[in-house]
Amino acid sequence: MLSGGEVPLGGGTSLQKKYGVVDSADQVYLDHTNHKNSDFRYCDRDLVRMWADENAATFEFLIENDVKFNDEKPEMVNGGSVPRLFVAKVYSDDLAETINGRPGSGLVRPLEKSARAKSVEILLKHKMTRVIRENPTSGGVLGISATSESKTVNIRARKGVIIATGGHTSNVAFRRMFDPRLTEEYQVVAFLSARLGTNGDLGRDGKANGGGPIWAIFDFDAVVREKWDPKPPNVDLNGWFFSADTIADLAGKIKNPYQRRGPFRPACWSRR
Ligand SMILES: Cc1cc2nc3c(=O)[nH]c(=O)nc-3n(C[C@H](O)[C@H](O)[C@H](O)COP(=O)(O)OP(=O)(O)OC[C@H]3O[C@@H](n4cnc5c(N)ncnc54)[C@H](O)[C@@H]3O)c2cc1C
Repeated sequence: MLSGGEVPLGGGTSLQKKYGVVDSADQVYLDHTNHKNSDFRYCDRDLVRMWADENAATFEFLIENDVKFNDEKPEMVNGGSVPRLFVAKVYSDDLAETINGRPGSGLVRPLEKSARAKSVEILLKHKMTRVIRENPTSGGVLGISATSESKTVNIRARKGVIIATGGHTSNVAFRRMFDPRLTEEYQVVAFLSARLGTNGDLGRDGKANGGGPIWAIFDFDAVVREKWDPKPPNVDLNGWFFSADTIADLAGKIKNPYQRRGPFRPACWSRR
């Protein structure tokens, strides 16, 4: 779970009220479907409605689970009509718990602590590889398979399986269900949950796809250290993987018709 600790949730939260901000779920919905906002005008109405209705409750959930926010007037965010952006308080100065005192720890660490206190078991170093169903590609979900230190672990579901592996914005077919313009030449930004995990697609055989950053530059030491195998089919030599002995030579080799040099502005996350 990654976060910069900025929490753009409104709809009438307790902290908004404290600072005299009048907001509602309806206003959150209207702001995030506003046809004048190029980032949000194509948002799926049903999803935004549900998200808007849960905004305030989600914020209060964070407070109930010990997330502390800087006690400051919220800022405007995402072209909204009222201020909604609060920032979590840094969890601690201990570098084993935070990254350079960044506020993301103020969101993630209390939630982790709260989950553990509620007996949630967090299995690190486990990679889900498939969803187990009654039949190979049909029927009810029985559990998942994962690999952990080269061993396969099957985990039976007693109630259900919730897949929250992130990175859905890298799944072209999936994202085009919401905005058909997002064809394959549009590359997501690492910041926006770029292929952190399965890219949301477990495939027809139920296997996870893995994932990776958009452009990664690495040297041979990294290949050895991380035990990567930069040969097809792990890399695509047809326009997506380049190697050279110097950075200058490498830059000269990279040709991508879909990318251009120039100033970059993320589509969202604008504090206006
Ligand atoms: C640097 C950075 C800063 C950000 N700052 C903010 C911010 O300030 N405010 C904000 O609202 N949003 C922020 N975001 C965006 C936010 O972090 C994401 O939108 C959010 O984390 C997505 O949550 P998620 O639970 O869907 O997925 P994730 O948080 O990506 O969680 C997915 C998890 O699934 C795991 N996983 C993936 N595949 C597998 C597998 N096969 N088996 C087992 N586990 C798997 C991943 O390791 C990961 O732990 C930031 C993102 C980044 C990258």
